[in-house]
Amino acid sequence: MQHSFTEENYLKIIHTLSGKDGIEVSTSAIAESTATRAASVTDMLKKLSEKGLINYKKYQGVTLTGLGENLALKVIRKHRLWEAFLVGKLGFGWDEVHEIAEELEHISSDILVERLDAFLDYPQFDPHGDPIPDARGNMPDSEYRKLSELKSGDKAVLMAVLDHSQPFLQYLDRTELNLGIRLEILETNEYDHSYLLRIDDRKDLFVSGQVARHLLVQP
Ligand SMILES: [Zn+2]
Repeated sequence: MQHSFTEENYLKIIHTLSGKDGIEVSTSAIAESTATRAASVTDMLKKLSEKGLINYKKYQGVTLTGLGENLALKVIRKHRLWEAFLVGKLGFGWDEVHEIAEELEHISSDILVERLDAFLDYPQFDPHGDPIPDARGNMPDSEYRKLSELKSGDKAVLMAVLDHSQPFLQYLDRTELNLGIRLEILETNEYDHSYLLRIDDRKDLFVSGQVARHLLVQP
């Protein structure tokens, strides 16, 4: 069955909002993420429910069915593979690829995705450090924590970013906060939740609490 861009984006958003434990997602949370009026969200939810992609009852939260979950993972897989391709093979910066991948993720050819995956030698993570589901929908393990959850004296490796916007990624480039670097927390400041970091044992850098909340690390 063919699904529209919008339907696929809704499934992706529900997947993200419901998290690993598959909690129920409210209509208002979806309306907020999609910047859409609640009435339009309700119409779309009815449609997705009729197609067997979500469990939806009026005035209750929404969850993905097995079918919906599979489709969401497929779209996420394509998005992340295309990002890996754009950065790894076409020379794009990691700050330039999200919007392009938002379009490419809706190409429906399965054989294209499988060839792309093989061409890239089956990458497990995309350029932002997000895990890429395999063809059966299995995600590689990534039990990361936010940098903002660590305390003074802790050491960790920077593994992924939670914000894919250009200003954020360009800030990371300028300050050389690249994936794979080792961080040590020298100081945490309770007043503004900022951090003083030592990077790869060679330089120190202050980051704001806002930045620390968007960096994922492996302690
Ligand atoms: Zn992206």
